[in-house]
Amino acid sequence: MHEEKIAELRCEIDKLDESIITLFAQRLDVSEEIIRLKIANNFAADDFKREEKIIDRLFELMDGKLERTKIEKLYKSIFSISKDSFKSKNNTLTPLELLKLRPIIIAGPCVVESRVQVEEIATSLASMGIKFLRGGAFKPRTDPNSFQGLGSEGLDYLLDAACKNQMFTVAEILDSEQLEENYEKIDIIQVGSRNMSSYGFLKQVGKISAIDSKPIILKRGFAATLDEFLKAADYIRNAGNSNIILCLRGIRTFEQIDSKLRFTPDIGAILDLKERTELPVIFDPSHSTGISKFVVPIAKAARAAGADGLMIECHTHPDEALIDGFQSILPHQVREIFDV
Ligand code: PEP
Ligand code: MN
Repeated sequence: MHEEKIAELRCEIDKLDESIITLFAQRLDVSEEIIRLKIANNFAADDFKREEKIIDRLFELMDGKLERTKIEKLYKSIFSISKDSFKSKNNTLTPLELLKLRPIIIAGPCVVESRVQVEEIATSLASMGIKFLRGGAFKPRTDPNSFQGLGSEGLDYLLDAACKNQMFTVAEILDSEQLEENYEKIDIIQVGSRNMSSYGFLKQVGKISAIDSKPIILKRGFAATLDEFLKAADYIRNAGNSNIILCLRGIRTFEQIDSKLRFTPDIGAILDLKERTELPVIFDPSHSTGISKFVVPIAKAARAAGADGLMIECHTHPDEALIDGFQSILPHQVREIFDV
């Protein structure tokens, strides 16, 4: 008896699922069309106020049958599936177009160590829909006698790994000579924390990138005020490129006297910067904590504070990493950041 009833109800469920999935497919098409129009007309692809309104409206429609947090959880995943599906169907999107889709996720090793290492990491990240692969070829090391990166060879490995996985590259450039030599190869140029106040270099970065408005990631100097940070961005802007992404990466405070943290995560600065500038603000939970098990929670905190994206250090074998293994997470852990 019970079995028959269950079978009958299951039939009903199957029919309902059919309707849900058909409607979901239609919703995907409409939302992809909206994203396409927004990108074509230079609007930010994400509109969190609109997302909130959708959730509010559905909550009302449910008339108390489902808590708001549940509807939020369901719809946040629908929003994110729609964006991912748009990205995967539109393989011809340029980095500039992709950067309009929030969150901007950049992940990869601190330093490129070998062809195999970077390809393994890239494949894993690409399988999660991540489009921006970071990897240091030229490393700014405190100790001149330590491993400085593989240089141009490392950059080639990064480029190949990205190309094989339909990803774009983010790599740091340390000086003018490297800039001239490698500018064309890299999709997004990173100016590191230590170079944030190298004004001559910032001018050169702005000048060379003025021609094609290539995105520049500018990392906050770890002893720089927000005003100094924004003025450093102005150096690049005044030289002709306003396509700048600000990256917070932790600052040095008295906390470093006895805290385990490598730097102090400047999460509050996300809120402050968002009120001062239109530029996207991303957060680096890896350097700002220096401890791999703190990376996911701090990344979540940065998201909650309104960061436009994250730059995360990943490694498939953190224990064997040549630099910063202690703050690297496994590629699949990036997903944990987005678990509601
Ligand atoms: C990096 O991102 O590789 C790096 C060296 O970071 P920072 O310049 O913030 O120290
Ligand atoms: Mn690093």
